[in-house]
Amino acid sequence: MDEQQRRPDLGPERFPRRKTRQIVLRHPTNPVAVGGDAPITVQSMTTTKTADVDGTLAQIYALAGAGAEIVRCTCNDKEAAIGLAQIVPRSPVPIVADIHHQYEMALAALEAGVHCLRLNPGNIRKPEQIKLVAQEAKDRGVPIRIGVNGGSLHPDLYKKYGDKIVPEALVESAQMELAYFDEVGFEDVKISVKASNVPLMIESYRQLSEVTDHPLHLGVTEAGPPPAGILKATAGMATLLSEGIGDTIRYSLTADPVEEARAGRQLLEAMGLRERKGLDLIACPSCGRAEVDVIAVSAAAQAALSDLDIPIQVAVMGCVVNGPGEAREADLGIAAGRKRGHLFVKGKVVKVVPEDEMVDALVEWAGIIAEDGVEAAQAKAEDGAEAAAEADRAALLEDQGADANDATSKIVKIEQIGRKP
Ligand code: SF4
Repeated sequence: MDEQQRRPDLGPERFPRRKTRQIVLRHPTNPVAVGGDAPITVQSMTTTKTADVDGTLAQIYALAGAGAEIVRCTCNDKEAAIGLAQIVPRSPVPIVADIHHQYEMALAALEAGVHCLRLNPGNIRKPEQIKLVAQEAKDRGVPIRIGVNGGSLHPDLYKKYGDKIVPEALVESAQMELAYFDEVGFEDVKISVKASNVPLMIESYRQLSEVTDHPLHLGVTEAGPPPAGILKATAGMATLLSEGIGDTIRYSLTADPVEEARAGRQLLEAMGLRERKGLDLIACPSCGRAEVDVIAVSAAAQAALSDLDIPIQVAVMGCVVNGPGEAREADLGIAAGRKRGHLFVKGKVVKVVPEDEMVDALVEWAGIIAEDGVEAAQAKAEDGAEAAAEADRAALLEDQGADANDATSKIVKIEQIGRKP
């Protein structure tokens, strides 16, 4: 039983979702709902030329494999639209066409059969063009994302708010676009108000969620390369998700988009908003007690386990003194001590292996858990494993004492600072 099962208040209901209406991206075999009670979804965007059909499809498959449930492709010219006509029927996930400047490309993408459009209100400004696209999308049952972007804000709004990009301007831009859609009775809409400035992005979405019940697509635009890009995007999106705001998310990273998809999935899993699908590797930060190079072992474990596609939490702990106890909630873990690895399943030591076999043992027992479950794996515990771990633990405590970091003597020295000799 994991932490969420024991404490239901730590589950998704911990972050009650704001109520939104639902739209559906109508992929024929894999329709994806956004908003309402649909799970929060992960999106990403291809970086290939859309006219390169095979290259784009290969990337779409890689993104879907990494957790993307919706993929956006640019539709910036006729060749891209022609590419989309060949990509859409072979894509495993719904395809969104990204449109800037040319409304004709939106019409071409609809003709190509895309499952959703993204329009940037800052770039397509003529009301008759916006309404023509909305009418065409309505007739075909294709939703549109109104994708407001701080960097390409409508110039009139920029001016109106004192040549500044402020949340009110981003929200007003979305509302102006919605008003055009209303005129043709088109409601199949999700909205984003992205900015690269995190506080601006957070406040814009907060304000937007007060004035509309359309589903919201979250993102920090131009977040940059990892790790800073991941941090910025996570700060913005996690803040809003914890307030119940957001129905679909995208990390905009300057990196292989597979990283975006992976990060999106990991964020939702980490917040308990989606069930774990793959590996969650936790590792202690290491300290004076560490009996092994925790960074190297956890990197090797991550590499060896991540391709297995097993929904499992695995812990790599630097010492057997505290490791099995601190990581007792992990499905599987290993703690180092006296040149040996102490393998444990949900806190129960099941096997002791030589230090250089730690990663192999994790792979083997992850397979056992995936095949037979946690209890069956615990039942396979080798005789004497628990006792061997306890003996190593006791020996380490004997060697290092309970205060491996020598905190006691440091505290004495600290307390003496400033005292008169
Ligand atoms: S006490 Fe052991 S498990 Fe905890 S951080 Fe230090 S090495 Fe890691």
